[in-house]
Amino acid sequence: MPNLAETVKAPDQSTDFGPPEYWPFLPPIVQRNYGKWKYHETLKPGVMVHVSESGEKVYTVRIGGTRETSTTTTRLFADIADKYAGGYLRFTSRNSVEFLLDDESNVDPLVKELTERGFPVGGMARSIGNMIHTQGWLHCHTSASDANGVTKAVMDELHKYYVSDMLPAKLRVSFACCINMCGSVGASDIALIALHRRPPKVQYDKVRSICEIPGTIAACPVDAIGPKPYKGKPSVVVDEDRCIYCGNCYSVCPAMPIADPLNDGLSLWVGGKISNARTKPRLSSLAIPWMPNEPPRWPTAVKAVMTVVEAWRKGAKEDERVSEWIDRIGWPNFFKVTGFEFTKYHIDDYRLGETTMNYSNYARL
Ligand code: SF4
Ligand code: SF4
Repeated sequence: MPNLAETVKAPDQSTDFGPPEYWPFLPPIVQRNYGKWKYHETLKPGVMVHVSESGEKVYTVRIGGTRETSTTTTRLFADIADKYAGGYLRFTSRNSVEFLLDDESNVDPLVKELTERGFPVGGMARSIGNMIHTQGWLHCHTSASDANGVTKAVMDELHKYYVSDMLPAKLRVSFACCINMCGSVGASDIALIALHRRPPKVQYDKVRSICEIPGTIAACPVDAIGPKPYKGKPSVVVDEDRCIYCGNCYSVCPAMPIADPLNDGLSLWVGGKISNARTKPRLSSLAIPWMPNEPPRWPTAVKAVMTVVEAWRKGAKEDERVSEWIDRIGWPNFFKVTGFEFTKYHIDDYRLGETTMNYSNYARL
């Protein structure tokens, strides 16, 4: 049988593109046992062991991190990894930080130090994983809300379910600051998605000087933008009945701002998942069409998330994800137990959406 460790090693990557070859960064115990792991189990909240065919064990200690981490904190993580984990750690796709240890006697002292420093140890098994989010006001011009702030407010409430094992199953909560959802938010147990509710306001006189008009027209996924001269000069016009308020046009044309503090807000979606365990992966479905954007603590959105979490926690069977729980009790009962109002917006009647997939009249290769 070929040595799996050898077959997966990439050739020399002498290039300045992309990440460096990962192999040298794996802990030696992981290199030695690559492809030979027999099983893994969660020992306690935030601590997992992987056992190899060779009998070697690697312990993982997970803490909730942040999407934006300061240099000071990153150096602190590195120092802690040097002290307990032979210098090895990794950042997960949900912005958690995992320390990888081959010495079991270091696990409890590491957990103690991390806890004393205020880092939540958990996020495994029947708990909430770290909440992922998009860029928000910090980086993205298209955002209909902040992302970091909402995530902080929600996770402050959900903290007890991160550091414990008290939920029926794993829980994945996500946040996107516009409907482009650049963080795969649409397939989460619970998702908050910020949205615009008005078309962009075209600054007709500026379009010609700061926008590339064919590119602006092509940026619209529903063909809502067309050319229209303004005072004899090239400009564009928006068919407001077609517009889905996605903000793509503003990304390529700064003369089409879409942010509207009075009308932008948050929506709540539930029942998505990426896992194919028991039931197939699926997208989330609408639960609340609009909530106000309320910095700095977003109380309405936080309350809505907690309402779903508590209803699911009380009503779900063991190992039942949110989607499976809703399937079993039915959508009418979901609205009943959560107290959410069923509105006309829950009926998908967007006549230009056709299959309601990512629909465009432009060919994308
Ligand atoms: S979700 Fe939208 S607004 Fe938020 S970072 Fe992504 S593209 Fe920007
Ligand atoms: S916001 Fe989206 S749908 Fe509306 S005009 Fe701009 S690109 Fe088209």
